[in-house]
Amino acid sequence: MLTGRMMNFPLTLTHFLERARTLYARSEIVSRRPDRSLHRYTYADFYRRACRLAGALRRLGVKPGDRVASLCWNHHQHLELYFAVPAMGAVLHTLNLRLHPNDLGYIARHAEDRVLVVDRSLLPLFEKFAGAVPSIERVIVIPDDGPAPSGRLDYEQLLAPEPDTFDFPKVDEHAAAMLCYTSGTTGNPKGVLFSHRSTVLHTLVSCMADVLGVCGEDAVLPVVPMFHAAAWGLPYDAVATGAKVVMPGPHLDPASLLDLMAQERVTVAGGVPTIWLGILALLDQEPKRWDLSAMRTMAIGGSAAPAAMIDGFQKRHGLVVTHAWGMSELNPVGTLSRLKRHHADADDATKLSLRASQGFPLPFVDQRHVSDTGEVLPWDGSTMGELEVRGPWVASSYYGDEGNDRFTKDGWFKTGDVVTIDSEGYLRITDRSKDVIKSGGEWISSVALENALMAHPTVLEAAVFAGRHAKWDERPLAAVVFKPGQSATKEELSAHLEKHFAKYWVPDAYLFVQQIPRTSTGKFLKTKLREEYGDYLLKNPQE
Ligand code: ADP
Repeated sequence: MLTGRMMNFPLTLTHFLERARTLYARSEIVSRRPDRSLHRYTYADFYRRACRLAGALRRLGVKPGDRVASLCWNHHQHLELYFAVPAMGAVLHTLNLRLHPNDLGYIARHAEDRVLVVDRSLLPLFEKFAGAVPSIERVIVIPDDGPAPSGRLDYEQLLAPEPDTFDFPKVDEHAAAMLCYTSGTTGNPKGVLFSHRSTVLHTLVSCMADVLGVCGEDAVLPVVPMFHAAAWGLPYDAVATGAKVVMPGPHLDPASLLDLMAQERVTVAGGVPTIWLGILALLDQEPKRWDLSAMRTMAIGGSAAPAAMIDGFQKRHGLVVTHAWGMSELNPVGTLSRLKRHHADADDATKLSLRASQGFPLPFVDQRHVSDTGEVLPWDGSTMGELEVRGPWVASSYYGDEGNDRFTKDGWFKTGDVVTIDSEGYLRITDRSKDVIKSGGEWISSVALENALMAHPTVLEAAVFAGRHAKWDERPLAAVVFKPGQSATKEELSAHLEKHFAKYWVPDAYLFVQQIPRTSTGKFLKTKLREEYGDYLLKNPQE
């Protein structure tokens, strides 16, 4: 091999942080506080405070590799932690405040967190699991809704005496930068350790015009929490490019978000479908109230974005939705849906169907899908199999669970998602492997049925799951929430589905419910539905 003669320059987050000072000092960071007032400062202030934070943490004894946990909403102090902690060589462990205290205790103990930074408004939550985490030596309180209680370290007081500069060490690009635990939808939470390199590469690719295209002219609103999969990397994308950052704090209701988008002229926002469904419903009620003309793209992922929602935003409000797939094990974005140049001539239905798919892989992510027996399947758009991925921002093992069997011997990660892939690489998630409905040997996609049900004019939300069946083993059941004041019969819903699916796909029964149980990250909690209604067909064989 003739070796290239280029520098071996480390891909670290410190580089992005330094650019905040040298190139983007005047860019702005806006955060909504719990009392709804807005906090504003510049990247110059952000840099100085990140230095002070690093100084304070070093004074408290934080060393390279140590885990510093955060239990915080999305705000500027959390952003300071996102950069200062990795840049000093330590690891930011973002704790998901929506988890049960027992899970939080398990996760923080497993991670051996040494320092915890917590919003004062979340102290009562921390106190519920503090006893389970003996490794935490220091608790630093961000005075978000009032001063830190006496006896606790106050974040602002801690930063006050520190210098405005910090001599950040040379960090190896392979050093861990952030620790995120999966939310446990599939068993015990597992730790994923992002490195500087994986995060930098993910950031560069996310900012490509063909991905999210974040640039210095943008105003980026991460609605997706910073405690979940690094807010999809949006905070890193923004700081890397000098974009304005807009943080919603704890106010995630549709009206507060719409106010923020309009006031701060947000151009890029990212969140899970539940958030956007709420926003769409409010926009439909009051289409003229907010000026969203600055909005360029709204990224949706975390669970499937229903086509009806994508279409509704576009047709009724002129807003563009970008559908992406990812997971904690991937830093987290893996695929994103973009049309290709030759689709310009396609009809509207084809375009919508492509935009509602999970798209195709980002550069440097490889995808394949395999059968139950491990056979690699064809990209024919109809054969279902488990998605496997590999790439520089795909986990190679779990932290503290190195031998886990989701990592194959030939170097792929088994995602647990059941998908089809078409001849152009477009991925369609048909299910999680444990949610797919196996009816008499045939696989039925719960997600496809849900999306079709949610396109029915009376239906607000629908979750489809497996009910046990005497003859077929499993049959689909649908839990349906109607829009206020609306309803439909079983026959009407079935007739609607029969337009799109083979007859044996149509659910055997519909359960009309007030709400659908959700996980801490807003996904349908199908284990709960199966627990409650799994035997429904055995008990009601007439259905
Ligand atoms: P977990 O739910 O296991 O904690 P994550 O929060 O990282 O893990 O979520 C990853 C999972 O979310 C994916 O494996 C997939 O099932 C689901 N998911 C993410 N994005 C999408 C999407 N656009 N469409 C459908 N499912 C998605």
